[in-house]
Amino acid sequence: MSEVIIIGCGIAGPVLGMLLKHKGFDPIIYERQPEIQQAGLSLSVSPQTFKVLNILGLAESLISLGQPLEELSTYSQLRHELLGTIDGPAQMHKRTGWPMLMISRARYCQFLYDSAKEKGVEMHFNKRCVDVRQEAERVTAVFEDGTQAEAGLLVGCDGLRSSVRNVLFGKEEATYMGLVQIGGFTPTPDFFKSWKPTLYQAFGDGAHFMCVPFNSSQMVWTTTLPQPTEAREDWRRLSIDAAHEMIKGLQVAEWEHGPKELVQGATFVTKYGLYDRPILDVWHKGRVVLVGDAAHPTSPHIGQGANQAMEDCYHLVRLLCKASSFTTDSLEAAFTEYERIRHPIVVKSVSHAKMEGEKRVMVGREACEQRDEAMLRGRGYDPERARLQMELIQGPFQGESEI
Ligand SMILES: Cc1cc2nc3c(=O)[nH]c(=O)nc-3n(C[C@H](O)[C@H](O)[C@H](O)COP(=O)(O)OP(=O)(O)OC[C@H]3O[C@@H](n4cnc5c(N)ncnc54)[C@H](O)[C@@H]3O)c2cc1C
Repeated sequence: MSEVIIIGCGIAGPVLGMLLKHKGFDPIIYERQPEIQQAGLSLSVSPQTFKVLNILGLAESLISLGQPLEELSTYSQLRHELLGTIDGPAQMHKRTGWPMLMISRARYCQFLYDSAKEKGVEMHFNKRCVDVRQEAERVTAVFEDGTQAEAGLLVGCDGLRSSVRNVLFGKEEATYMGLVQIGGFTPTPDFFKSWKPTLYQAFGDGAHFMCVPFNSSQMVWTTTLPQPTEAREDWRRLSIDAAHEMIKGLQVAEWEHGPKELVQGATFVTKYGLYDRPILDVWHKGRVVLVGDAAHPTSPHIGQGANQAMEDCYHLVRLLCKASSFTTDSLEAAFTEYERIRHPIVVKSVSHAKMEGEKRVMVGREACEQRDEAMLRGRGYDPERARLQMELIQGPFQGESEI
């Protein structure tokens, strides 16, 4: 009775699978895509993730695949001035022992999949979960191809548009937030070649630009813009013609102090809308529980989505180990405790990300000048955001892991 069905092999799915296997459970992952998707831009990996991956002996290997950051630097296009540079990521590294790493999402997913495979986690692709049925001591996942799988427990790691969540709590669409991000990869322009590994951002009137190195020769950049018409997120590469057409119309394609070179030199460009789904108060029903974006999707502005999902995985596995058996009562107690610990933290993280997004796309010269003036006082960084970031990265445990 230790089988666990995991729906979704994005970021949370394979990590949860590995942690469960490590503790003697029998996880099986089902993913709707035919294979690991080579899609998306980059993700920021903060110390919480390394603490969790270190339990599995994977933290150091992941670091070797990305770019640890050292500085944060902010420029104002309105003031034509650098607002400041701080060594926040280097300080974070010093205090926690783990870096803040930028990595291509495709590479990260491939690494997690390869690691899960190596550790013997069973995974099946082309399996879109369309229904979940519960009776007595068992739960059954029903797939689009007509097949079924049965276990004592099912975890929905199926992201923003989670079908498991729809089955548990009723169908509800993700809502468009009125913001799009356009981003791409560019060979590192000369302008940035002498920089330390830096997360660099530029603020303007109605647009924000951000870029980071994600290996020794490439940078990833994104611009966030308000856009009233909906743009669904599919994270796929645009054709060269479509990319050039889109870049032509971008405010940031003409911005000084770096953005222009990066945008105009892009070799890969993608566009996606930002979507929201409310954070539920309860993330479980019976033998089914939600993890990561399925429970608490977030806008990406403070880079915490994937990291918060790791904390979910850690606590869920820790509490399942404590529960020892999958009786209805012990699962109810474990899931309730899991939500009690995780809910307040993700509420903080998600609402802060939303506020950061609003600040980035502020429109109107006067308001933007006031924002930039305030940032100048904080050397380009909002002290409240710095405090919250430091607080968030302390999770999911201090000292030794309990699993
Ligand atoms: C293709 C893609 C690209 C992304 N790119 C970026 C990016 O560049 N930057 C960024 O900040 N965030 C990106 N994100 C979001 C980010 O990865 C997540 O917010 C975060 O990692 C949380 O991880 P998760 O495992 O909860 O969800 P996800 O990483 O979204 O994983 C969910 C997985 O579940 C699968 N799935 C969904 N429905 C079903 C179903 N019914 N049956 C079976 N499987 C199902 C999906 O195919 C996916 O593999 C991307 C997400 C996706 C899916």
